Amino acid sequence: MSNLSNSTLPTTTTCPACGLLCDDIIPNAETAVNVKNGCSKAIQFFEQSFNDNIGASPTLAGKPCNLDTAIKAAAHLLSNSKSALFAGLGTEVQGMRSLMHLAEKTNATLDHMHSDSTVRNTLTMQNDGWLTTTLAEVKNRADVILAIGTDIATSHPRFFEKAVWNTESLFHKPTPEVIYLGVPAEKTKAGTSPNGTAPTVIDANADKLPEIINALNALLNNKLNNKKIKEESAGGVSVATLMALVNQLKAAKYAVIVWSASSFKFSHAELTIQSITQLINLLNESTRAAGLPLNSGDGDSSVNNTSTWLSGYPTRNRYVDGKPEYDTYHLSTDKLASSSDALLWVSTFNPHSPPATTAPTIVIGHPATKFERQPEVFIPVGVPGIDHIGLMFRLDSSITLPLKKLRDSQLPKLSDVIHQIEAALSSVEK
Ligand code: SF4
Repeated sequence: MSNLSNSTLPTTTTCPACGLLCDDIIPNAETAVNVKNGCSKAIQFFEQSFNDNIGASPTLAGKPCNLDTAIKAAAHLLSNSKSALFAGLGTEVQGMRSLMHLAEKTNATLDHMHSDSTVRNTLTMQNDGWLTTTLAEVKNRADVILAIGTDIATSHPRFFEKAVWNTESLFHKPTPEVIYLGVPAEKTKAGTSPNGTAPTVIDANADKLPEIINALNALLNNKLNNKKIKEESAGGVSVATLMALVNQLKAAKYAVIVWSASSFKFSHAELTIQSITQLINLLNESTRAAGLPLNSGDGDSSVNNTSTWLSGYPTRNRYVDGKPEYDTYHLSTDKLASSSDALLWVSTFNPHSPPATTAPTIVIGHPATKFERQPEVFIPVGVPGIDHIGLMFRLDSSITLPLKKLRDSQLPKLSDVIHQIEAALSSVEK
């Protein structure tokens, strides 16, 4: 971490590399290994961030320019636009607040890069409501963890360490039993408890999960309890195995069912998520159970919470004459990237490239972003939690955590750039 300034280095910092937002990361100014307490995903994030060119310059069609010129060009593009798409949206709370204001002023559509996954959860919540829990409740109360279609640890590497094996719980409870359903056995190592108890692994093809979850609901409803059906299988899993799982969930004092919408690659996955939430509702008739949907990253929880409190809707929303509208089907980046008359792409945590489009493109993002086609305007900005402070929602949306500044850099903050574009927009309009 050669860029770290010892004089300003905080004792601990928050890692924004996944939705767990571990806040016990100890930055290290002396060694090439960036952080203490960070998992491999965190180390990769911090190393990538610190290897980037903090002196990267804005560009117009690939040619370096100063920040003022780039801001004026971006404002000019947006002032000529009637249907701009603000996409990517890889940012934290303050960045999203500024983008919402700019979207309101320019009648733009907003869509986060991971909305395909988020929308599956949102549709379930909007349709039926759901009963979900927090990481603190997992730590304090869970005695059974059922992971459906996700190994959890790949996307959220310290989940088991922080929330499952952590013995500093408020209540005396046994070490949770871990069950994987529809997860390859070779990916289930993280579910082995510190005392060596291996997880239960129910082998199943991920694309059979809709059928399997429906069967679990039927079993819990006593709809599949005759002898003939017990000898059969659902989605390739024997009904006896599924019945044993149902009994284990019913016997639990606090079962937590974890899923990741991004792992559900089959069509109409929202119906399977709804089926999971129905299972949770049924379990709560006789015991306690809750869901824990994992997020996909790049600030998706922060962005959608901020969007919801400012406009009433998560992303895949737009402003029309100052009024927010919401449409999960028509307002997607896939559908609008080609038809919009301007694209503003934002990705500050990672150097994700913008989607292919012929629309005039403004990219405000990670200094290491690569382009197939040079955008009309590129403004490199600081990485939140590295170059400037910020605020992020944890994956369970129960708390926000502060991101800290770890180095001095010349890269501006996204929200500052957006405010300047907004100010320049007023001048263009005059
Ligand atoms: S688990 Fe997530 S938040 Fe925690 S250190 Fe690893 S990447 Fe960062």
